[in-house]
Amino acid sequence: ISLMDRIKAKIADDEPFFSLEFFPPKTEEGAVNLVARLERMLLGGPLFCDITWHSAGDPTSDKHTSSTAIAGTMLNYVGMETMLHLTCIGASKATMINQLERAKELGIRNILALRGDAKFGEEWKPEPDGFNYATDLVRFIRLHYGDYFVICVAGYPSGHPDCESYEADLQNLKTKVDAGADFIITQLIFQSKTFLKYVQDCRNIGITVPILPGIMPFQSYQSLRHITRLSKMEIPQEILDEVIPIKDNDEAIRNWGIDIAYRMCSEILAAKGAPGLHFYTLNREVATVSVLKRLGMWCEEPKRMLPWKPTANHIRCM
Ligand code: FAD
Repeated sequence: ISLMDRIKAKIADDEPFFSLEFFPPKTEEGAVNLVARLERMLLGGPLFCDITWHSAGDPTSDKHTSSTAIAGTMLNYVGMETMLHLTCIGASKATMINQLERAKELGIRNILALRGDAKFGEEWKPEPDGFNYATDLVRFIRLHYGDYFVICVAGYPSGHPDCESYEADLQNLKTKVDAGADFIITQLIFQSKTFLKYVQDCRNIGITVPILPGIMPFQSYQSLRHITRLSKMEIPQEILDEVIPIKDNDEAIRNWGIDIAYRMCSEILAAKGAPGLHFYTLNREVATVSVLKRLGMWCEEPKRMLPWKPTANHIRCM
């Protein structure tokens, strides 16, 4: 069954699901740790997991710590429904075909099609026949692979930093979806109201595909600042008012990160604003699992199963 059929089945059964994002580790030891973590997290019953793409291409593409190799391990060794992120900025058509062929050879059926960002300090201008936007990659995949891949794309509830306006960004998202995207995952959100408004705005301009909110349970003030700076996002004042007084108290920040993620998720689910929740795990498990347990979405059933049968456990939870 394709990932989209699974998503549709969850929507039809009114049963919210969750998905988990990881990034490729830099070292082989990191890869071993990640696989062990994936096996543990599989037991909780994610609908799928995804692996990010390095912003400057995939520098380790021949090693087994590359995004594609980790995605292959996730799928074929751990037994997880897997989505591979792919960026296209500055890539040639031959490069994109190579990446897609590698993914296909490994059995990967789900791609998060992204533009990506120019390398730090490099100027980038759209090229007449190049991959200038994620829409170009979506079209390219549909042209060369038909419906073989389920395609997800990125959405920005606070607007994308490069875009002249929130409205123009929404129209660009509509074009991206019309080019053949199946569903949308958003950038991390800080407040459920931002996401719920975004979904409504998408629906108002005719974007009908499922939209999953990006949830990041922050575990330190430094990572909150670092990630928002990287994503060129502004932290809403209401959130700063909550976090600044506790910023030097590690335990309080960790609890706050779990609380705020839980609050957003429960408000979105109560409002029936999304069929599922997407977690940016940052390759950690405690905070995400805590939020999912509090929401009652973490599958506890596998505890009674044999520990060496994670794949079978996962199937029972689906
Ligand atoms: P696009 O959809 O192409 O949009 C980029 C900008 O161009 C927007 O401002 C848009 O409004 C504008 N635009 C689109 N079409 C047009 C047009 N025809 N004319 C003019 N303007 C247009 N980065 C990575 O490097 N690796 C990852 O694995 C990764 N994963 C991500 C996952 C998610 C869920 C999200 C939300 C982001 C992720 N990113 C990742 C970051 C992403 O690469 C950047 O945000 C990047 O700046 C935009 O990528 P995009 O695919 O959203 O671009």
